[in-house]
Amino acid sequence: MKILIFGAGGFIGSNLIEHLIEQGEHEITGLDVTDTKLAGIEGPNFKFIKGNISEEGLANELVAETDVVVDLIAYANPSIYVESPLEVVRLNFFENMKILEYCLHHQKRLIQYSTSEVYGKRTRDSEYHDDHSDLVMGPVQKQRWIYASSKQLLERIIYAHGMKGDLDYSIIRPFNFVGPRFDYLVPAGSKGGPRVFSHFLSAMFTGGPIYLVDGGGQHRCFTHINDASTAFSAILENGAGRNDIFNVGNPDTNTTMENLAHLMQRLYGEITGSAPNNEIIVIDGEDFYGKGYEDMDRVPPNVDKLTALGWKQTKGLEAIFAEAIQYYVDRPELAAEILS
Ligand code: NAD
Ligand code: UDP
Repeated sequence: MKILIFGAGGFIGSNLIEHLIEQGEHEITGLDVTDTKLAGIEGPNFKFIKGNISEEGLANELVAETDVVVDLIAYANPSIYVESPLEVVRLNFFENMKILEYCLHHQKRLIQYSTSEVYGKRTRDSEYHDDHSDLVMGPVQKQRWIYASSKQLLERIIYAHGMKGDLDYSIIRPFNFVGPRFDYLVPAGSKGGPRVFSHFLSAMFTGGPIYLVDGGGQHRCFTHINDASTAFSAILENGAGRNDIFNVGNPDTNTTMENLAHLMQRLYGEITGSAPNNEIIVIDGEDFYGKGYEDMDRVPPNVDKLTALGWKQTKGLEAIFAEAIQYYVDRPELAAEILS
């Protein structure tokens, strides 16, 4: 099968490509504006094209030549939703709509990466079910929700096309994937910017403070990136993965950000032999991300639909973070810039 990956140079894309090269079963083409995270990822069945999804004609031509389109293009960090909400809608909705239109035009299967954030604020459900949970957005004045709303509308349009019978699709809702090449490291005391793993690890490398946003009581379930890649394959290869929506997450890794900070400190100490001693500072969400930030307490995903495809998670919370920390500890050059 020919698989075209838009956003191939990002965190999920680079790991997915590594997984697909290893499988050796498909012909992969990746497009991205950057290939930094693809350094060293090579295979006879993989071709990279450096380009912008907005370039006239390019994406359309690539879609025409493939069997399956995987759409990973989006601004995915909370700091960007807060600072540049209009950019988020432009890329995450309007540019993604063009990809959907190319798939409709050429009648190609679309695997769309959405987000667990479509569920929005915590509901009374004990877990997020792919099909039955309400999607509860916050106020317009809290621009975090422009990300979730863009993704939600895209999902609804994709679903409507599936209903109409003119689109073959699968939608993936990721729950906090973590692993090699995740985001980027930042200098001591930085605010906003990357997602939580990169912030906490940067603090350990630099000796800077660990910020617990709004007290650190918020829950997240983290997923090993390799488990996320095998989930992709289960959805791709299985007939039951078609025209459906899947939570991709690990319900057994539920933790608060405060507990995560302590867990990462312990693991970092065990891995490096030098126990980190960061000051832990509680900070208001708007002071950390900017005005209009709002957080949510995310409940665990229900993954019954995914396990029915034969998938199961293999890595628990400690293994997920130990392996991700080890990756960076083994590559001191990645931390060199923030330490200079
Ligand atoms: P990422 O930022 O690492 O990857 C996105 C990639 O898209 C980047 O490499 C970027 O260069 C590329 N891109 C952006 N604009 C482009 C353009 N105009 N033309 C070509 N390439 C462009 O993000 P990620 O973590 O890999 O996430 C991928 C998808 O999964 C996104 O849709 C995101 O919303 C979704 N998601 C991820 C997570 C997670 O845990 N990582 C959680 C929820 C949702
Ligand atoms: N967070 C934190 N300290 C940081 C960065 C993030 O306490 O240095 C919190 C953030 O407020 C949120 C959680 O960690 O509650 C997860 O944030 P992340 O940016 O990783 O992704 P999200 O799940 O919110 O999309």
